[in-house]
Amino acid sequence: MNEPIDLISHAALKELRSFTRRTGQPTEIGQLDLAPMEHVTNIEITEEHVTITYNEKTTHRYNVNEVSHKEWSYKYNDDPEFVKAIGAVIDLARKHLRDLPDNLACPPGCAECCSGYEPFVSKADVQRIADHFAIPYAEALENYVVQRPSADGYIVGYLRKVGDDITDKCIFLKGSGSGRYYCGIYTSRPHDCGAFTPIGCSDVDESLKRNRAFEPGSPFGPKRRPVLPTSRNRR
Ligand code: SF4
Ligand code: SF4
Repeated sequence: MNEPIDLISHAALKELRSFTRRTGQPTEIGQLDLAPMEHVTNIEITEEHVTITYNEKTTHRYNVNEVSHKEWSYKYNDDPEFVKAIGAVIDLARKHLRDLPDNLACPPGCAECCSGYEPFVSKADVQRIADHFAIPYAEALENYVVQRPSADGYIVGYLRKVGDDITDKCIFLKGSGSGRYYCGIYTSRPHDCGAFTPIGCSDVDESLKRNRAFEPGSPFGPKRRPVLPTSRNRR
């Protein structure tokens, strides 16, 4: 196994500190501006530095546009293998960035991710599902959610599946007869489901044709199992 490289306690520490004094550039974690880097426009790797240019901002003035940007420049030790490794990782990332299509659509009827995946649900999600079926919040929570509240109370649990196995289908997934699946509560599905991205998805059902019109069948219908409010499930 490779040893992790501790840049800060490296023999070059003294040199790094003098570099900071000379240039004002941070060379220790405590000196770094750790604000999120957005709109990264350039990543440059030399024998001594990694420099990331980001957060470009254009200020429109009367007769000129002023363009400013932030720059994060990090000096590391001059271990050529380390430099090469970082270069290779960044090149790979760049390659995949170019590979990504602008728009990516799941093959209609796939829904592989609706098995195996356990979407978290918030109180708002439960309320939306309750409204969808016109049932009380407590009933929606009891019938459709495995309750596992997060420490801050925002998440109340995750959606039930048709069985206890993690690979079982979501309770709302329909279409098993035709083999072309669809969400039975699509317009009211949890935020976690709506935000799920197919980018990089390796579970895609390749056998499904993308150019066929897809008509979902009937929506999920609840089997009424009224739940009396208790201190546990009362909102
Ligand atoms: S392609 Fe991936 S993300 Fe899209 S429905 Fe299929 S499994 Fe889910
Ligand atoms: S609620 Fe719908 S989209 Fe979400 S996992 Fe279940 S079937 Fe899939």
